[in-house]
Amino acid sequence: MLFAPEAAHPCELMENSIFVALLNPSIAFVFAAAFLGLWLYDKRRRYIAAIAAGYAINATGFLMQYVTFPVMAELGKLASTSLFIVGTLCIACGIINRYRRPQPVIALSLLVAAGMAAFCWFLFAAPDLVGRILTINFTLGGIALLVAAELRAVVRKTPIEWTMLVLSLLSAINFMVRTLIAAVLHGIETGGDVHNSIYWTTAMLSHAVLSVTIALTLIASVMLDLISELRSESLTDPLSGLLNRRGFEERATRLLGDMKRKGLPVSLVICDIDHFKAINDGFGHACGDRVIATAGRFLGKVASTYSAAGRIGGEEFAIFLPGVNMPAARLLAEGARGAFPSLSVDGLPRDHRPTASFGVAELSGDDSLADLMARADAALYVAKKDGRDCVRMARPSFTRPAQQGAAVLGF
Ligand code: GH3
Ligand code: MG
Ligand code: MG
Repeated sequence: MLFAPEAAHPCELMENSIFVALLNPSIAFVFAAAFLGLWLYDKRRRYIAAIAAGYAINATGFLMQYVTFPVMAELGKLASTSLFIVGTLCIACGIINRYRRPQPVIALSLLVAAGMAAFCWFLFAAPDLVGRILTINFTLGGIALLVAAELRAVVRKTPIEWTMLVLSLLSAINFMVRTLIAAVLHGIETGGDVHNSIYWTTAMLSHAVLSVTIALTLIASVMLDLISELRSESLTDPLSGLLNRRGFEERATRLLGDMKRKGLPVSLVICDIDHFKAINDGFGHACGDRVIATAGRFLGKVASTYSAAGRIGGEEFAIFLPGVNMPAARLLAEGARGAFPSLSVDGLPRDHRPTASFGVAELSGDDSLADLMARADAALYVAKKDGRDCVRMARPSFTRPAQQGAAVLGF
């Protein structure tokens, strides 16, 4: 960003310096509008609003650099510098919030307080343009470094996080190292025409390039957030909060591949609420929905974080158990069956306890997920035939699912 918040008379801005002068505020306003649009699309993501505000504030700060205040010109310089700091803080906090990292409030406050104090010193007490330029650039560079430190701590970094980390570091280098090099090699003109100097032009151009790259990376990460949320919504059943059939099959297929590679057992439990139609007919569809929601929450807790639990039909659920053999899966199903009638559901009378039937199958041979589900389904069918509210297990079988209706162990 900046920067030398020094006002130049409009006549000092020659053709190409007008282009340089308008470059950054235009870019910042365009991105402010883009982020505002993204935030309006999904207002829950407040970090997008912070980034939009940051770009808008920075754009205003850029424009203010070219405004000459008739009285107390120092106040204009102080205002544009404050705008840069606030705008950059908004963008930094937005990025940190996007990665759910805690805001480094103390470090940011100390940095900004020290930076503003030094800036005011070089503005009012001992006026010095180079002092102000170095102070403001090192403050902004410090903010970029704090963002980089937070990004470094993100545990699982995708290419987007790595890109943001590298860009934050480049930004810090741009603010600090480039400014120092420019000051040492070229010197910074202090004769009032700083806006036409090499220092100023390189500062504005390098800032424009970095700012565009950072904003595009941020837009990509916002879009990826939105896509991944839409995707996860498309795989989730809103009533039970479990995976829907498609989500369940996707996750279970992935886990099945892992377990087969590791040579570990796999079991599947299918659960179907008994006489559910009677619940709907007797107590209303809304009550039936609450039974499904309660059963879903319960079965979600029964399944560990490593399992996959899904609602695979109206009142039918499946729990995929990686690394679990038949006896352990049977125990789990028996425990769930035993606890089922104690689930309390609004609108369901105390003397009408819901029950469920369970079918359990263990992976055998080169069963596919469809084979495993068909065998667990066959076991469930037997549980229904045997009077409901019970668990039945599929026999280990190397035969095709069509022949497996009879391959069920009774007990
Ligand atoms: P069984 O003991 O043999 O499983 O009998 P059942 O009545 O539970 O099974 P059946 O297949 O005869 O009826 C299931 C009913 O579930 C029929 C359908 O209207 C109802 N249902 C399906 N999805 C929903 C839902 O999302 N909400 C509610 N309230 N009912 C649903
Ligand atoms: Mg049923
Ligand atoms: Mg059913």
